[in-house]
Amino acid sequence: MALLVQKYGGTSVGSPERIQAVAARVARARRRGDDVVVVVSAMGHTTDELIDLARNVAGHDDCVHEHPREMDMLLSAGERISMALLAMAIREAGADARSLTGSQAAIITDAWHTSARIVEVRADRVRETVEGGCVAIVAGFQGVSTTREITTLGRGGSDTTAVALARALGADRCEIYTDVDGIFTCDPRRVPDARIIPRISHDEMVELAQSGAQVMHARAVDLGARTPALDIRVLSSFVTGPDEDDPTRGTLITDDPMVREDQVVTGLASARGYAKLLLHALPAGMRTPTEMLGALADAGVSVDMVTESPQADGRVLLQLTVRGDDLARAREIAAQVAARLGGGGAMDERTGLSRIALVGRGMSGRPGVYAQAFRALMDAGVKVEAVSTSSISITLLVPSDQEDEALRALHDGFTLAAQAEAPAAAAVAG
Ligand code: ASP
Ligand code: MG
Repeated sequence: MALLVQKYGGTSVGSPERIQAVAARVARARRRGDDVVVVVSAMGHTTDELIDLARNVAGHDDCVHEHPREMDMLLSAGERISMALLAMAIREAGADARSLTGSQAAIITDAWHTSARIVEVRADRVRETVEGGCVAIVAGFQGVSTTREITTLGRGGSDTTAVALARALGADRCEIYTDVDGIFTCDPRRVPDARIIPRISHDEMVELAQSGAQVMHARAVDLGARTPALDIRVLSSFVTGPDEDDPTRGTLITDDPMVREDQVVTGLASARGYAKLLLHALPAGMRTPTEMLGALADAGVSVDMVTESPQADGRVLLQLTVRGDDLARAREIAAQVAARLGGGGAMDERTGLSRIALVGRGMSGRPGVYAQAFRALMDAGVKVEAVSTSSISITLLVPSDQEDEALRALHDGFTLAAQAEAPAAAAVAG
């Protein structure tokens, strides 16, 4: 008998039929003798619709800043609808079930409305409910603050609720049910060859999630990564038939990801909407990047990549990449700082760029990965605008109209399809 925490996303509870399908699975687990805690998202696009409603009533789009407390009251209602409906459906399916709001489940957060952080999970009532032979259904994405206000955890926050509860309860399994089959080597809509990654480490998954892989919330994976690490399985709630209860389907996010020694890259992710700023003829020396980056940080502009290159006249060229939304602000500040430093003031920019991340623990300390990536992109005729690395990733900026070609070239170049297909063949414990 195991304790399972299962989270179901918006599409998985998006209609009465989907709710019944979830109820049937939960009731089956109960009949097998497992204890189940379910975390639900709001049905379908409910959260988006509630945000639109608020904007219409307020007459402007800035409800999060103008009415943070009421936005949390409003948005927390989405998950309350699905939790109550699911509880009814599970009872109809022959198991006992009871719904609990985040506040009733004692998910305690800080007071930061609309993007609160969990500070403590007491979960006494969840535990009591389960010990009483009842399925506990907890509203995802919400909690109660230390000042007793209702809070929400930010978009996509139900994943975080599930991981936090699984940790607090010492669950045997934490399963994130979604509308895709798992974490793919690349978005299958962009690269038809993409395959499911059977096992991935937390740090790789955090990097992929932050770089645009949408299946799981980076914050939730990060929480799962804390010691002792919590294994998280990501799988589809739409599978029916004999495979439905296969405990090995989907992707396992684990601290012990059976790495193949020849596996360099585990997966790719990408995001559009980046820009590059080129600042010419700045004075050489540490003061230039220090002041430039300091001023941008003070203005809340986050700089993704930085490179400095010497010019023939002894001055330097500083290249900065930023989110497209931050470009205007970055340009203005860079001009001020350049003037103060006595720079030439010449500036160029490139917009319409995409950021591609190649992620893999296997690249750490291995020579030639860079070269292999560049070779693949050069052969595909893709222009690379900027690069940077960390110990488990290489990040490249390419023109957005070449993003799909770049992803396909890298996916082929690092033979990701073949490697995900035969994960166990040459597996070594890593
Ligand atoms: N319903 C919330 C959202 O749409 C939270 C979640 O689904 O995780 O962002
Ligand atoms: Mg989600």
